[in-house]
Amino acid sequence: PFDVLIVGGGPAGAAASIYASRKGFATGIAAERFGGQVLDTLGIENFISVPYTEGPRLAAQLEQHVAENNVDVMTLQVADKLVPAKVPGGLHEIRFANGGSLKARSVVLATGARWRQLGVPGENEYRNKGVAYCPHCDGPLFKGKRVAVIGGGNSGVEAAIDLANIVGHVTLVEFADGLRADQVLQDKLYSLKNVTVLLSAETTEITGDGGRVDGLVWRGRHSGQEHRVELEGVFVQIGLVPNTEWLADSGIELSRHGEIVIDHKAATSLPGVFAAGDVTTVPYKQIVIAMGEGSKAALSAFDYLIRTEPV
Ligand code: FAD
Repeated sequence: PFDVLIVGGGPAGAAASIYASRKGFATGIAAERFGGQVLDTLGIENFISVPYTEGPRLAAQLEQHVAENNVDVMTLQVADKLVPAKVPGGLHEIRFANGGSLKARSVVLATGARWRQLGVPGENEYRNKGVAYCPHCDGPLFKGKRVAVIGGGNSGVEAAIDLANIVGHVTLVEFADGLRADQVLQDKLYSLKNVTVLLSAETTEITGDGGRVDGLVWRGRHSGQEHRVELEGVFVQIGLVPNTEWLADSGIELSRHGEIVIDHKAATSLPGVFAAGDVTTVPYKQIVIAMGEGSKAALSAFDYLIRTEPV
């Protein structure tokens, strides 16, 4: 068995594996896709100390850094069950969709998250070409331009407030008849001069000129009428879904959004099971944060292992 088995090979899992192996632990990473969401990212300008990089390049560097440490990397492994140890100090088991299973004295869960997609024509075609999901990451790329934010929950309204400070104009498009964000955020939003709010508005298409986004089509849900807004960017803010479906019957505590609940040391509700990155309740889903959290989870696993007798 492993001392530390990490599930997920994004920034959080990679960082956890390097920290764990440097403690001399038998360390493994099992992941569906090494690199995680970073593989789907184009330009990255907020990875501190690296002014500019690109997703595939950063993913390759993560993989190389892990390979330089003594980590058993297993890719194309889709975990579908966590069977926690029955007794303190016992072995946890991770089962995989291909029928295999691995055991470990401690586990770090780092399976990340995925942005919920709108599912309209143009969204995939113009992804990274005007269609964006992360205002912290991509907001500055639209400096002075016109953008839309889709979604009127807290994340959508926060994104619109954030972007209004950077871009020329923001159109917030909400499907329902009202915004669902906290009142204080709504008040702030309505006080901004360069924001238009569309309610009862269904986004039906993101259009482009073949190279980049040039507009958005929405239909009034009561009038049935279609309208077009010309703009350069669309931020989809209808939810970040944690990859925790596979943990449903493990007994681990999840938040009402499905995130793994962790404490300030990355411990979950199960002794010896730690979690890090976008899959957890940690606020602000970013690469540098996921790496810090992964490192923290591995150090907490170390703390646990030196205090717990194996059984
Ligand atoms: P992830 O990167 O999601 O990695 C999860 C890992 O778990 C993957 O290896 C995946 O294959 C694996 N996995 C999932 N389910 C299973 C399973 N059941 N079994 C086994 N393995 C599984 N952040 C920034 O800081 N700057 C940016 O510029 C930036 N731009 C972004 C642009 C886009 C388009 C997207 C989607 C995200 C962007 N982010 C950016 C966010 C950043 O990518 C994430 O915060 C970060 O990747 C989270 O790391 P993670 O390791 O927690 O999870």
